[in-house]
Amino acid sequence: QRDQRWEMRVHPAGEGVRIVHLVDRTTSYAAERMRVDFVANASHELRTPLASLIGFIETLTEEAGEDPETRTRFLRIMLDEAVRMQRLVDDLMSLSRIEAMKYREPDARIDLHALTTEVHDQIVATEAPRAADLLLELDAVRPVRGDRAQLSQLLHNIIGNAMKYGRKDTPVRIRLTAAEGDMVRLQVADEGDGIAPEHLPRLTERFYRVDSGRSRAGGGTGLGLAIVKHIVEGHRGRLDIASTPGRGTQVTVLLPPAPLSSRRNVNATDGI
Ligand code: ADP
Repeated sequence: QRDQRWEMRVHPAGEGVRIVHLVDRTTSYAAERMRVDFVANASHELRTPLASLIGFIETLTEEAGEDPETRTRFLRIMLDEAVRMQRLVDDLMSLSRIEAMKYREPDARIDLHALTTEVHDQIVATEAPRAADLLLELDAVRPVRGDRAQLSQLLHNIIGNAMKYGRKDTPVRIRLTAAEGDMVRLQVADEGDGIAPEHLPRLTERFYRVDSGRSRAGGGTGLGLAIVKHIVEGHRGRLDIASTPGRGTQVTVLLPPAPLSSRRNVNATDGI
């Protein structure tokens, strides 16, 4: 195998005898390479808007800055670039926060019905008219054990993608249902262009995009699904992305229920 890495350890064991240990370092090598790639990618993603900002500032300080129309146009572009950098830094911070919390199981009882409705309302307030295509089909489900802020971000990221990559005037269905083993199933389905099968296994990698131009044009950082994957793992849940090119994409998240009797956060609004 190409990326197999072995470390050889030699221990002297008396007269002319050596014990040779071969230690499989494949996993730690792959993790280290991922970390190096991540830092390189993140730096590159930040460098591009930064270089563009510096270019515009330089031009504005020269004679082009004297023409009010040019100035306004350049300032708008600069604002877009700065917002792009802010989004990226926010996502990078979320990712490291979520990774750090992975080893502490979230333990609040979350009513996903209420949370999904709340996120839907927030999107409608900020992203009308596209939000008019959002269809909620929410069953009353058991509370899940989770972290409210993280689950809210998960919903925003998945619904945001369905709106971004779905086709205009086609519905985005958000379903909440009971699943096997008392799990709760959240599914977001769009009727967009879909994703070719060869890309599916890589979608949750940091900075992996099928179409970089389209992702950037929609304000994407390439980190949304990586964040979703980490949130799902931290919640001991499952993430599945299925897609048919030309027909659409379904993102499904299965989350374990909160224990029936929990001393924390039990109150009348928890439902079951
Ligand atoms: P981005 O910020 O680029 O949207 P994500 O990590 O959220 O990053 O998604 C990674 C890539 O997966 C996107 O760039 C896009 O190519 C693809 N993708 C995600 N969701 C969908 C969807 N609902 N339909 C089609 N493609 C999608």
